[in-house]
Amino acid sequence: KLEGRVALVTGSTSGIGLAIALAYAAEGAKVMLNGFGKPEAIAEARAKVGAAMGVAEAPYSAADMSKPAEIRAMVAECQASLGSLDILVNNAGIQHVSPVEEFPEEQFDRIIAINFTSNFHAIKAALPAMKAKGFGRIINVASAHGLVASPFKTAYVSAKHAVVGLTKSVALEVARTPVTCNAICPGFVRTPLAEAQVAPLAAKHNVSEDKALTDFLLERQPNKRWVEVEEIAEGALYLAGPNSGSINGTALSIDGGWVAQ
Ligand code: NAD
Repeated sequence: KLEGRVALVTGSTSGIGLAIALAYAAEGAKVMLNGFGKPEAIAEARAKVGAAMGVAEAPYSAADMSKPAEIRAMVAECQASLGSLDILVNNAGIQHVSPVEEFPEEQFDRIIAINFTSNFHAIKAALPAMKAKGFGRIINVASAHGLVASPFKTAYVSAKHAVVGLTKSVALEVARTPVTCNAICPGFVRTPLAEAQVAPLAAKHNVSEDKALTDFLLERQPNKRWVEVEEIAEGALYLAGPNSGSINGTALSIDGGWVAQ
């Protein structure tokens, strides 16, 4: 489905981003990875995605999504070394859970920068060449928290709502071009980012981790199970593919029914 395409997936050394990168590579795309992690974990991700691409290791950028100049350089490097950038997936993200009165100010700014502003910088850098080439797919990994709120996640909920707004606005700007811009809004997905929230909830409510998962973390997710990363990757594959050109400005919920309530 993606033969001849070049994709850049931010935050793809782990979790959802890695699953999207693998799915794209398996469908024939050249994929540039990005993200942090232990050197061994990054090497493992590069080897896995590389194997799906038929090379020893997938190309990788260490750009920090909180630094606009590094984001611009990453996009330029992808275009120069892989020949183009047809599919941009803005996926890198972090979380911090705290009451608003106690929310560390630097942490708030960091979440806005990584989870939201980075999307703007990457889109701004990538769009001119997509328009010139006559193909482009921009996919922003937002969240159910881009559509509805939960307490104690002010920075994350604000950033993700902003991502959905940015997605719609860019979609309208590119509507007459062969570029599309869409968001994916996952519910709770089994990744390190979400799994890290279970133990503190178990401790806070003095219950087992299983009970903390179903009764507290998944309180508002009606299917009462983790969404798996492969389910998100399947949506990202569809939005990147050849038959999704009329899907533009949408927020695709993959959330076990969360925002139906
Ligand atoms: P994860 O922690 O497994 O992966 C996050 C990725 O982002 C990692 O590769 C990490 O290295 C990278 N990253 C973090 N800070 C970075 C920075 N400054 N520069 C570059 N890369 C950076 O988490 P995940 O759950 O796979 O999250 C991926 C995206 O999905 C995030 O935007 C997250 O908000 C969103 N999301 C996750 C869930 C969930 O339940 N897991 C639900 C909804 C949305």
